[in-house]
Amino acid sequence: MYVQPDVCNGCGYCVVNCPFGVIERNPDDGRAFKCTFCYDRQRDGLSPACATACPTESIKFGEIEELREEARERIANLRDKGFDDVHIYDPVDSSVGGIHAFFITRGDPKSYNLPPNPDVPTVHLRKAWTSAGLAALCMVAGAFLAFGKGRD
Ligand code: SF4
Ligand code: SF4
Repeated sequence: MYVQPDVCNGCGYCVVNCPFGVIERNPDDGRAFKCTFCYDRQRDGLSPACATACPTESIKFGEIEELREEARERIANLRDKGFDDVHIYDPVDSSVGGIHAFFITRGDPKSYNLPPNPDVPTVHLRKAWTSAGLAALCMVAGAFLAFGKGRD
């Protein structure tokens, strides 16, 4: 997702709905912002600045399937060395459906501020609308009862 600063009106919906909590609002003008994957550099055929500058190549940029393969090899290598708690954080099987960026982590993803089971908020809509419908029905029934008693 690329936040277009010239179009964003600062409504904040994306901030509260982001399953990863990465979008914030600029306190000066209220507009949303997040990492752009260096969209401007990529347009000029360059890699993102962080991936270019990282001296240990901890941040990598490239074709996602090639990077996944590299990550799998890295995990196997680390496990051979006794690091049994290493994982790839790549929520492709969640309702989010993948994030086009992934991490090699150790232990609980929450210690990296990564939600273990991220969900897009719309998967909860059905439950929310059902609850709202039931609440409305109860209110209508209550009003009829009160009205009926008043007439008696
Ligand atoms: S705050 Fe987020 S949802 Fe609202 S207009 Fe800006 S980018 Fe869109
Ligand atoms: S330097 Fe890295 S973190 Fe910053 S906007 Fe570019 S891709 Fe995102």
